[in-house]
Amino acid sequence: MFDVESIRARFPALGRELYGRPMVYFDNVATSQTPRCVVDAITAGYFGAKANVHRGVHTLSQEATALQEHARERVRQWINAESVSEIIFTRGTTEAINLVASSFCAGLSAGDEIILTVMEHHANIVPWQLQAKRLGLVIKVAGINADGSLNLDEFRSLFSPRTRLAAFCHVSNVLGTVNPVADMIAEAHSHGVPALVDGAQAVAHLRPDVRALNADFYAFSLHKMYGPSGIGVLYGRRSLLEAMPPYQGGGEMIAHVSFDGTTYAELPYKFEAGTPDFVGIGALPSALDFMEETGVEAMAAHEHYLLDYCTRRMAEVPGVTIYGTAPGKSPVISFNLAGAHHYDVGMLLDKQGVEVRTGHHCAQPLMHALGIEGTVRLGFAAYNTIDEVDRFIAALQRTASML
Ligand code: PMP
Repeated sequence: MFDVESIRARFPALGRELYGRPMVYFDNVATSQTPRCVVDAITAGYFGAKANVHRGVHTLSQEATALQEHARERVRQWINAESVSEIIFTRGTTEAINLVASSFCAGLSAGDEIILTVMEHHANIVPWQLQAKRLGLVIKVAGINADGSLNLDEFRSLFSPRTRLAAFCHVSNVLGTVNPVADMIAEAHSHGVPALVDGAQAVAHLRPDVRALNADFYAFSLHKMYGPSGIGVLYGRRSLLEAMPPYQGGGEMIAHVSFDGTTYAELPYKFEAGTPDFVGIGALPSALDFMEETGVEAMAAHEHYLLDYCTRRMAEVPGVTIYGTAPGKSPVISFNLAGAHHYDVGMLLDKQGVEVRTGHHCAQPLMHALGIEGTVRLGFAAYNTIDEVDRFIAALQRTASML
């Protein structure tokens, strides 16, 4: 039995009221709420071991460093990477992808090709466009089928002798589509091309195994998986990371600095310039503990139960169109109400205590492909309930009758 009430009790923010009603928080695709254990770990970091990492011989600094390196080892285990050298802490998925785009592309030349898909978040489009403009690279884009699944034949057809990298999301943040990333990586490898997976929307619902996937790069953000904000992870295959130049220069990433020439630190520090959010990083194992104790598969089963129930109930509301119906999709629902602007729907839902996201969801090329400007989007987390879905449906019905 999945005990959702005891899970909810661990999230103080869920006790909020909005406009005199208990809050329904369905904006989990953008970010999840945070369990008390993570905030307690952050508090303990600030009050107990607030000293800069890697720079001190004193006790506090060594404690802070130990917390950070323990977190790195926890992440390594979580995603089954071979070595902690392959775990780079960043500010988030966005910075992780920018790191690869800047550093990996440094070895490319005009006419080299990068493959993306039309369902990518801007974070997995714009970094490549910046490099394409700088170096004269060509970006090729695979489209989608009517149900929001990837057009795999088109994806396969895009590879050429000039392809240098393929980058695609594990899970779409709009459609909920779960891409067959292991097959896509294998396809890239069959052409001798490495693959980057944007795992931002996968990690709240599954535990990626980078070795089973055979991923070359895998990027994700902790704030979407019950963890602290401002922290991300780039997993990179050691042989690739070793060949890549540093992304940013500064403290921590050097071996020796002189005006005659500077040498760089070993992995992973080569890619970690400056003081990181070491308190947040030290607290991230608590988020993984929360997910492990709750059970990632049990959480996903509960979220899919909510997804199926909510999808069925939305059919009762006149004028609803749902975008993304691929089999096995993630617990994300993007929709529009006929004749209503998504902003108006979102605003009226908010006034009834229901928090959903509206807009293009940083996926304007996908919006263009769907022929729309935006959607209303909701996503489920482990702490959501059937009762909340019922309250959302009642609020949506009222909204539809008002618009
Ligand atoms: N990729 C996808 C698929 C996302 O959903 C998001 C967050 N909306 C990002 C990348 C960017 O994540 P962050 O803002 O945490 O860097």
